[in-house]
Amino acid sequence: MTTHASHLDQTHDALLSSWITSANDPATDFPIQNLPYCAFEEKGVRRLATRIGDTIVDLGLLAASPAFAACLAKEKAPEPGIALALASGDLARVAVLGRGAGRAIRRALSHLFNASTPDLRDDAALRAKVCKDAASCTLVLTHRIGDYTDFYASIDHASTVGAMFRPDNPLLPNYTWVPIGYHGRASSIVISGTSVRRPRGQTKADDANAPVFGPCKLLDYELEVGAFIGRGNARGSSIPIGEAGEHILGLCLVNDWSARDLQKWEYQPLGPFLAKNFATTISPYIVTLDALEPFRVPARPRTGDLPAPLPYLDDDADQNRGGFDIRVEAWIDTPAMRSAGQGPARLSRGSLRHMYWTLAQMLTHHASNGCNLEPGDLIASGTVSGPEPDARGCLLELTWDAPGKPRKPVTLPGGETRTFLQDGDRVILRGACEAEGFRRIGFGACEGTITPVEG
Ligand code: MN
Repeated sequence: MTTHASHLDQTHDALLSSWITSANDPATDFPIQNLPYCAFEEKGVRRLATRIGDTIVDLGLLAASPAFAACLAKEKAPEPGIALALASGDLARVAVLGRGAGRAIRRALSHLFNASTPDLRDDAALRAKVCKDAASCTLVLTHRIGDYTDFYASIDHASTVGAMFRPDNPLLPNYTWVPIGYHGRASSIVISGTSVRRPRGQTKADDANAPVFGPCKLLDYELEVGAFIGRGNARGSSIPIGEAGEHILGLCLVNDWSARDLQKWEYQPLGPFLAKNFATTISPYIVTLDALEPFRVPARPRTGDLPAPLPYLDDDADQNRGGFDIRVEAWIDTPAMRSAGQGPARLSRGSLRHMYWTLAQMLTHHASNGCNLEPGDLIASGTVSGPEPDARGCLLELTWDAPGKPRKPVTLPGGETRTFLQDGDRVILRGACEAEGFRRIGFGACEGTITPVEG
């Protein structure tokens, strides 16, 4: 059995502190143990960065410094091209270098921002060049995302949604054998903070003879986690499950906005289309798999009648540590709550650990037919729902009661109710990892506000 210990190094030490003192605040999502990728725009140019406490660090400028070069030179097998890739402003150029390069970058950053390392700490000129106040930065997508696939990996989500349509047979027979997904739309992926216009489309009431075209009335969010592909695979080749982790750059939060009334009318026979592709919001920070090592857990056990994975999706190491205990939450605030000075209200909380399929199984299945995954592609988990009623990761599930019964709206502080999203509502996703003996790390926020569309 593979254990934690062999995957951990000095960058995970809970006792590390940084000379960026805001990183030492126990409440920050971004202690020196995290070191996620992000990007900001300056004078129309995208620059790759990391975030430490309240500071955004320009990785392109830092990588050009002798101090960073000295760190890389200490690596046993220095990866060529790291500094150029970091300076390119395109995270796909870093992704293609693979996990080894990522670990070298992580070790260099962990060393340079350690409280006891003087190189930057005592070099005011270099520090002023590479360190920026996060509040003053405009964060942007880290790269042009070529392809986006959304899976359906939560058996609890699939069971609840299935029960709405097939009370006696909620799970379709293929579910427990094959990771189900659909190809999403990369062009409409937007970064947290971007407003989302209510989509229009065809909907048909159950008792109507014909559909109408107009604004979506049943707008929903889906609380998901996304994985960015690191190194890809050539078309015609596949990715063995034991190697899948080496092809993942890192994870982010994803809100797969969903127009349920459009979806209901259009989804048969080919699956989601315009109900999903009008917007997908992602968090600005990509937390690397290396940062997440302390929070790996066994895959969800397959008890009862659940079948073992087919051999190409079955791997001891993946079953032992292919899950991630990433605790995710969905929050909402409405225009009325904001004007009353009320904070957001939590709608649900769950953990990625409850997913039926691991990220490695999703990635391996995706490439198993010879489909080429490309550096920087995004693969999302599907709605993260868990076994508990408060772990339902979308309003479609949260407001579901029983077959034939009307939906039960969610009551918000201040007395408003919601069955689906109204114009002006803001949905905020959050994610964080905690484990005994390790520093808590977080994903930042993934938020978007619904704006109206004319009929
Ligand atoms: Mn989804």
